[in-house]
Amino acid sequence: MNKITLLGTGTCQIQHDRMASSVLLEIDGMRVVYDFGRGTTQQILKANLKNDDVEHIVLSHFHTDHISDIIPFLHAASWSQIDPRTRTLNIYGGLGVKIQIMRLISLFGPEELVRDERFEVVVHEIPDEEFVIGKTRFYFPVLPPANNHGLKFEFAGRTYAFTGDSHFHEQEVDFLKDVDLAVIDSGHITDDNIVELAVLTQVKTIICSHLYRELNGETLNLRAAQRGYRGKLVVARDFFACELPVI
Ligand SMILES: [Zn+2]
Repeated sequence: MNKITLLGTGTCQIQHDRMASSVLLEIDGMRVVYDFGRGTTQQILKANLKNDDVEHIVLSHFHTDHISDIIPFLHAASWSQIDPRTRTLNIYGGLGVKIQIMRLISLFGPEELVRDERFEVVVHEIPDEEFVIGKTRFYFPVLPPANNHGLKFEFAGRTYAFTGDSHFHEQEVDFLKDVDLAVIDSGHITDDNIVELAVLTQVKTIICSHLYRELNGETLNLRAAQRGYRGKLVVARDFFACELPVI
């Protein structure tokens, strides 16, 4: 099945029901996890996936709440007796990601996190805003302010976009314009910004994630509709999922 699942809709804040940022994308039989914040490893297990099932991790930027579960994920990959990893893990990120991942692994040593070359970690540094996995071309532009990269792709005639960490600015409006479904960082921006973004971009479905505060979906939808927004805003929970239709 082709679908998007929000593994984590929270932030650095420790909460019972919201893990830090992570989106699981399953299309054409491949799995891509966009961001890997605290709790992602456990969420992957809850989604009935094995360590090997995750072949591609894309990092929006190198902030703790977007990458920290790479450590327990690799540790389990190396040392688990019930689910050891055997396949190559690909990690994609912006400039500097190779050295960042190398430093992260060297903090504990390769024997701890990439044991005995049982599997390989291949880090792909993306300098030119685009890369391909399988049949899918991903657009990976910088969205300020935190050297953060959004992720955008087409599937079966529809456009999908994730913002990672983003503030409200012109680049974000351009990035989201006329997208069919977007998962946006709604925690760093105000309710007014969310409404404005919906009106200006007319994204058909906006999934609000990376929540630093609880949002009132009803009020947001009402306010946006009054301003001429024709789509729908959804306040996400962990494991919120939507199928990607194939025409
Ligand atoms: Zn963040």
